[in-house]
Amino acid sequence: MKLSKLPFKVSKTAPNNADTINHKLLVQAGFVRQLMAGVYTYTPTGLRVLRKIENIVREEMNSIGGQEILMPALHPKANWLATDGWNKIDVLFKLKSRTDKEYALGQSHEEIVTPLAKELINSYKDLPLALYQIQWKYRDELRAKSGILRGREFFMKDMYSFHENQKDFEKFYANVKDAYLRIFKKLGLTAKVTEASGGSFTEKISYEFMVLTDAGEDDILYCNECNYCVNTEIAKVKEGDRCPKCGAPLKAGRASEVGNVFDLGQKFAKDFDLTFVDANGEKQYPIMGCYGIGVSRCMGVIVEKYNDEKGIIWPASIAPFDVALIALNGAEDFANDIYQALQKEGISVLLDERNESAGSKFAAADMMGLPIRLVASTRNGEQIEWKKRNQTDSELIDLPEVIKRLKN
Ligand code: ATP
Ligand code: MG
Repeated sequence: MKLSKLPFKVSKTAPNNADTINHKLLVQAGFVRQLMAGVYTYTPTGLRVLRKIENIVREEMNSIGGQEILMPALHPKANWLATDGWNKIDVLFKLKSRTDKEYALGQSHEEIVTPLAKELINSYKDLPLALYQIQWKYRDELRAKSGILRGREFFMKDMYSFHENQKDFEKFYANVKDAYLRIFKKLGLTAKVTEASGGSFTEKISYEFMVLTDAGEDDILYCNECNYCVNTEIAKVKEGDRCPKCGAPLKAGRASEVGNVFDLGQKFAKDFDLTFVDANGEKQYPIMGCYGIGVSRCMGVIVEKYNDEKGIIWPASIAPFDVALIALNGAEDFANDIYQALQKEGISVLLDERNESAGSKFAAADMMGLPIRLVASTRNGEQIEWKKRNQTDSELIDLPEVIKRLKN
């Protein structure tokens, strides 16, 4: 991609309503645009990042047997009455048609996936089943804030599992936990797992995946010596107390919840009369679980963790392009040769061939946060300047060496 062709440019000034780093930098670097509080457009570069995160999540969900579907965002009222969510869920967006029919916008999809699964599940032979989707969610959040961390419209991966019994379910639950940890690691995030009591519908155990950041809205207590972590809201311990697991002093921190897993028990199966016939010929309700990841929130949290005074520093796994290639005056042809050669090797490149000062090209590359910066300049002949976004030192190397390093 050539930078001059990007429709959304890097801006020298930050948006004046930005309350967090992710809001400021994502807008300034041209990755998102705010339509209103909590609702954003993703630009071509922003969408590339979102898709990369989405694909990391998708790969791991597929690897544990998840089947991807895409459910509607517009729901009939009846489904939400069946679970009493219509009256009980305060964030549920409700709307009325011109013929006075009522609808809800999907804030989560238990109400849709459970009746859907009735078609698939008849006997124990149809279990286990895990369906997931990656889709927009709508929530009437009282305070949409912190850029894309808390939206009224946001991108979520939500998976729903159906198991014959508690034992099978718990095995799968553990697999999902492991898959989540792999996902967050690939995204460059260190997720701490808190044990928490379940949501409004269940007293069962749930786990929240928390990433330390001041832009988050949760307070956690955690141990640096072992993996003990709890949400302060429900905790019996406080900062400085001894870790109940290993005895080290507990630390307190602000965190953002990037994902969670819930044991739903039989609540939704009962609401929709979803049953299966077990091996003894008896009717049973399956055990359900639900598993969310805030895909767009992850993108915001990554920006909160990876930035400096010059802009974003994307982890290579989700950067919109592998390389920022800058053509300085007189080296346009050479830069173009490098551009072609790298693309032939499957390396994605953003070529800055604009008629702009070197300074403004460097600033744009830094702001957009691509992992590697290459500079073609007549001063360096056939040598190319190589610099990592998170380092200050640069080196001069030739094209085959550039390709070799990028392919590693
Ligand atoms: P929170 O406590 O932050 O409101 P939640 O418990 O309501 O989260 P879930 O309903 O389980 O979250 O949604 C699954 C995931 O979706 C969350 O772990 C979070 O990463 C993300 N998420 C939830 N609400 C929002 C939102 N308003 N904007 C962006 N992401 C969100
Ligand atoms: Mg919430």
